[in-house]
Amino acid sequence: MKTAVFSARPYDRHFLEAANQHVGGEGRFEFAYFDVGLDLTTSTLAQGSEAVCVFVNDRLDAPVLEALHGQGIRAVLLRCAGFNNVDLAAAERLGLFVARVPAYSPEAVAEHALALIMTLNRQTHRAYNRVREGNFMLDGLLGRTLYGRTAGIVGTGKIGLATARILRGMGCNVLGYDPYPSSAFDGIGEMVPLAELLARSDIVSLHCPLTPDTHHLINEASLALMKPGAMLVNTSRGGLVNTDAVIRALKSRHLGHLAIDVYEQESALFFQDLSGEIIDDDVFQRLMTFPNVLVTGHQGFFTAEALQEISAITLGNLTDFAEGRACPNKVA
Ligand code: NAD
Repeated sequence: MKTAVFSARPYDRHFLEAANQHVGGEGRFEFAYFDVGLDLTTSTLAQGSEAVCVFVNDRLDAPVLEALHGQGIRAVLLRCAGFNNVDLAAAERLGLFVARVPAYSPEAVAEHALALIMTLNRQTHRAYNRVREGNFMLDGLLGRTLYGRTAGIVGTGKIGLATARILRGMGCNVLGYDPYPSSAFDGIGEMVPLAELLARSDIVSLHCPLTPDTHHLINEASLALMKPGAMLVNTSRGGLVNTDAVIRALKSRHLGHLAIDVYEQESALFFQDLSGEIIDDDVFQRLMTFPNVLVTGHQGFFTAEALQEISAITLGNLTDFAEGRACPNKVA
């Protein structure tokens, strides 16, 4: 079965081909790799394939799904957990098989959240540059001891739990909020309502999915509930945060630090080298001017272990589809 792989970076090709080697000879898949993202214009590249394999910023709205279906595409394989970029109603109407990778090394994303927290708290990103320039002054690099501080986890699923465990291990008091709480959080921290979590936490880390309910969960009103000087961390999805409201909270000095691995308008920026280009996104550029803001380009998932798991599970999903078997990772 031929599969068109969109947003394919060299590492995607490497790990998918390695996983394909483990599929028995006859059952091996044929992949056509395209480094461009999927949208209505690029959807024609899938001509001749029966499946598309896509990532977080590929667009799978109704017009794109209809175009793909018209070309003979019958399956959509997401190389990620989130599926907010897929119009599931349209996919169902067209009878498309949609599967995702629900879990792959949640610790990879949790550890990246920790990397952001530690970097921003102790300003090692600024210290690195200073020391290389021979400036050994400490002024402006003052951090806070994390031990004994309160961290709030919004969404205590797989990644939220992994983050909570690490923070707990560092001696933080951990609070959690989740409308569907799991007993796995017992013994790690205390489940509280969202407003209480925001009011009590020194660090608020977002780990819930982007849905119509969670869109702009962090907004003017929720930011006002946060402790003055607190840190907001988002490694989940950009749409959870109203960036304009966050900028106002940073300018007023109410929000102490912002660390993001995801950004609402990231599809125009992330996973590309724009270092020689003019960046038109003024909101993003404003964020870049704050010394207390740290941005990474959606790399929370980016460990060798996670990429191996993503590729193996994606091929498993494709095999289930090809062989007409029930797929546990099918998105309904
Ligand atoms: P998960 O499904 O295991 O956990 C999500 C949790 O959020 C669930 O417990 C759910 O009950 C909870 N939730 C749902 N609605 C909520 C709400 N309104 N408020 C608070 N909690 C709510 O998912 P996961 O594997 O832990 O992944 C979490 C998110 O991380 C994904 O949705 C994805 O967007 C993001 N992610 C980011 C990266 C990255 O590279 N930065 C990688 C993987 C996943």
